[in-house]
Amino acid sequence: MTFKPSEALSRVKPSATLAVAQKARDLRAKGVDVIGLGAGEPDFDTPDHIKEAAIDAIRRGETKYTAVDGIPELKDAIIKKFRRDNALDYSASQIHVAPGGKPVIYNAFAATLDAGDEVIIPAPYWVTYPEVVRLQAGTPVEVKTRIENGYKITPAELDAAITPRTKWLILNSPSNPTGMGYTAAELKALAEVLLRHPHVWIMTDDMYEHIVYDGYEFATIAQVEPRLYDRTLTMNGVSKAYSMTGWRIGYAAGPEALIAGMRKVISQTTSNPCSISQWAAVAALNGDHGFLKPRNEAFLRRRNLVLAAVEEAEGLVAPTPEGAFYVFADCAGAMGKTTPSGQEIQNDTDFCAALLEAEAVAVVPGIAFGLEPGFRISYATDDDTLVEAGKRIQRFCASLK
Ligand code: PLP
Repeated sequence: MTFKPSEALSRVKPSATLAVAQKARDLRAKGVDVIGLGAGEPDFDTPDHIKEAAIDAIRRGETKYTAVDGIPELKDAIIKKFRRDNALDYSASQIHVAPGGKPVIYNAFAATLDAGDEVIIPAPYWVTYPEVVRLQAGTPVEVKTRIENGYKITPAELDAAITPRTKWLILNSPSNPTGMGYTAAELKALAEVLLRHPHVWIMTDDMYEHIVYDGYEFATIAQVEPRLYDRTLTMNGVSKAYSMTGWRIGYAAGPEALIAGMRKVISQTTSNPCSISQWAAVAALNGDHGFLKPRNEAFLRRRNLVLAAVEEAEGLVAPTPEGAFYVFADCAGAMGKTTPSGQEIQNDTDFCAALLEAEAVAVVPGIAFGLEPGFRISYATDDDTLVEAGKRIQRFCASLK
């Protein structure tokens, strides 16, 4: 019998990153020394005090079902975090915990989207957003941002994208894939537009809040414009800052009715996030954050290595990211050129495939993130590897004629 996917599954696009990843695997299998700069996770380990808290939780027998959207102790830690870091006040009935940031987004859309509802997604975007919208039969409305604006959506672009069918705007700052962060003033200007359109909800993905550089001050929209508090879902998680990608804990805070809807979704899908991971997240949020500084110093050094390499590569430009661990390089300058083996570079997929072929460096093409031509470099790897990757990228760019 042939497999017939559901309509919902058919709407979801296969990942554009898979082709490059597969090619990298094939080359590795042939013994080629491939440098992979595609990873979306820190190379650091989970801090010890967090691991210990998890081990303690196992020993205490915290191994059973929990409240579906989070144990009270974790909700309490999240409430304290929002107060401490963002000057935002929430009660326990306004907090949702799920197995990762990705499920938080899924639960919010599953709870709110009807067929044809529009979700504004500034591009380049994290690859999951449009696909989760499509899964719910919603319509992703991609707004292409410009490098001159630091890949950030402007108030005029936002205003032009809003229609009567707009349900949500997604903001992700610092951003995956660009690392660019909105200032409080920029958020305030976007908020002015949103105040004129009271039917639009705002989802902020603040996953990279703690990985920031050069004195950039993180801000989130519900804090900057309290009049949006009642229609903002402020999403965050422990995956990136605490190097806990495998533990699967994400969380969000928002209006009680929305959170109740999301609770209904999680109660009939994944149920509670792992009990042990929830206790680890309590230790992460309530614990010492001293480990962040040296890690951010390492990330900053690596960011600068990558930026310097990109700046010197022919045909590439990239704005300086305020956070996360990605650089998004524009490669328009390489379009129409030809590789030494005679292949013409027509788009960023060609560029990334040829770079992998010629110099064994794997990066993700901009098309995967909804903005061409460009590519994302993840610098969550050691300095020596990044220096070598930079040399290879420069050599590749110089070889194009
Ligand atoms: N949001 C952004 C912007 C991300 O980059 C990621 C992970 O890559 C997530 C959310 C998902 O995080 P989690 O691993 O907690 O699901």
